[in-house]
Amino acid sequence: MLDGFGRCIDYLRVSVTDRCSLRCTYCMPADGVPWLSHGEILSYEEILRLVRLFANIGVKKIKITGGEPLVRKGVAGLIREIKAIPGIEQVTLTTNGVALKEQLPDLLSAGVDAINLSLDTLDRERFAAITRRDALPQVLEGLEAALGAPGLNLKLNCVAQAGREDDWLALAELAKAHPIALRFIEPMPIGLGEGVTVCSEEEIRAALEGKFDPLTPYDGKLGNGPAQYYTLPDFAGKIGFISAVSHQFCDRCNRVRLTATGYLKTCLQYDVGADLRPLLAESDEVLQKAIAAAIGCKPEAHQFTADRVENREAHIMSQIGG
Ligand code: SAM
Ligand code: SF4
Repeated sequence: MLDGFGRCIDYLRVSVTDRCSLRCTYCMPADGVPWLSHGEILSYEEILRLVRLFANIGVKKIKITGGEPLVRKGVAGLIREIKAIPGIEQVTLTTNGVALKEQLPDLLSAGVDAINLSLDTLDRERFAAITRRDALPQVLEGLEAALGAPGLNLKLNCVAQAGREDDWLALAELAKAHPIALRFIEPMPIGLGEGVTVCSEEEIRAALEGKFDPLTPYDGKLGNGPAQYYTLPDFAGKIGFISAVSHQFCDRCNRVRLTATGYLKTCLQYDVGADLRPLLAESDEVLQKAIAAAIGCKPEAHQFTADRVENREAHIMSQIGG
């Protein structure tokens, strides 16, 4: 459906848990946060009912996220069932990769259409410093398994923090050798992201071009998001940038988010949308109207650079789903 600004909303990020096996400094506090209880998060049946209603109003693409989605049991089964919903064309997953190796066969057999693996560095110590867990070996096993899966659409997401040129160049070697997309995500000032020193797209490009060849803009369609992609000679894969702060793309926004507790969040930066959970006791018609009404009121744009923002989101990224 179209929102109040004429944008076509066809993409829903569904968070299945607030829990995570890592504690990335820009996302979660070192001690974690008080976890939601089992009774507070939507059941898979409730998620499926809601996704059917979103599909009725034109949502075609679903991203399963978290927290870390693979810490919740049965995610592959959920993906299989969402894929069977009429109108849903694509179901993708974003993961930190810790449990990817063991779950990849089930995810592939469930028909997952693409996997985004979040990976900021290939250096073990640096990984442990960023994520507060010494888990790079497991993540690399997951990465290797995913690289070996025939036909799997794989993207790597690197949150670009200032001064990590060596990390970017090492990750870029992966995009050179494999037909994957490596995307540099500008840290967003949400929750723990607030204090992160942002590294500009231009800086990363300069670092890449210092080692490799000039980046050439790629105009073809890749994925469902706002990334601007580039090709390089001799690269099997592509390089992308998602720079929400410095290169605002709200006019092209196609997404809304469903949190693990059932809150329909219509913009990353604001605490606005609709709490669908109490409405689960109502008819499908009532729920669908509430969903459509909230999408109709989706904010026009974020104000990441403003000092004071009304209705500012108070949750951290792992509670929202990224
Ligand atoms: N745990 C999964 C993962 O890491 O892919 C899924 C949830 S995570 C919140 C989704 C995405 O949000 C990840 O790619 C992560 O790097 C990104 N992210 C977390 N905090 C961020 C921030 N402050 N700014 C930009 N991206 C952020
Ligand atoms: Fe966990 Fe993903 Fe947040 Fe890292 S970015 S703490 S992996 S939810």
